[in-house]
Amino acid sequence: MKKLFAVLLSAMLLLAMAACGEQPQTPDDTHEPAVLHMATEGTFPPYEYYDNGQLVGIDIEVAGAIAEKLGMTLETTDIAFDSIIPGVQAGKYDIGMAGVTVSEDRLQQVNFSDSYATGVQVVIVKEGGKVQSLDDMADAIIGTQSGTTGFIYASGDFGDDHVKSFTKTTDAVEALKNGQVDCVLLDNAPAEALVDANPDAGLSILETAYTVEDYAIAINKENTDLQAKINAALAELVADGTLQSIIDKYIK
Ligand code: GLN
Repeated sequence: MKKLFAVLLSAMLLLAMAACGEQPQTPDDTHEPAVLHMATEGTFPPYEYYDNGQLVGIDIEVAGAIAEKLGMTLETTDIAFDSIIPGVQAGKYDIGMAGVTVSEDRLQQVNFSDSYATGVQVVIVKEGGKVQSLDDMADAIIGTQSGTTGFIYASGDFGDDHVKSFTKTTDAVEALKNGQVDCVLLDNAPAEALVDANPDAGLSILETAYTVEDYAIAINKENTDLQAKINAALAELVADGTLQSIIDKYIK
């Protein structure tokens, strides 16, 4: 049945190509590998960040390994975090990967692969600053990255007046350093990387975490075929230890 469908499909394709005046390709023509187009946001170390001008990180490597398994070439586009889900929904990108948390709201817009990592929302504070525990957040200005779950929690729990949003996580941390905000609510892995990157700024992470989340790959709702292929590839990468070794390379 599958075979018949494939034959019908190629026949239709040939007809369509002939109609466009193109030469139908024979099976032994060499094809460029198909592109897996991924939207991401490059200020989320160690999942995606720049090293010597090159976009690197856990998500970039996992996506690369998935693309390889699918016989595709990975192409990444760095855009604002809050444009990733709408971009995938609109079909501008095949996948969105940027430590994206699975949430009920996002599931209305896109499908998600199986989860490949866990994220914890934490709070970065400044020595001598207004926030020294989660209880202090009610009277504070909280820095977040636009469109993130950190923003959604902060505005939902404390009101929009208590939240300042930034396109980049690095800008939210700069705002904490210069006193524009009293704390930053974001995911633990970039929080640790950003605190480490600013050793003299008196920054630290509150011990009490805000909440725990699952990261997964956002895929267009209509592309269930790609979703199935990605889940199969991910399962292989889990089974053969590749996923863990990529994570261990970036998170010590
Ligand atoms: N995990 C958070 C979210 O999905 C933040 C992701 C990010 O800032 N790249 O909203």
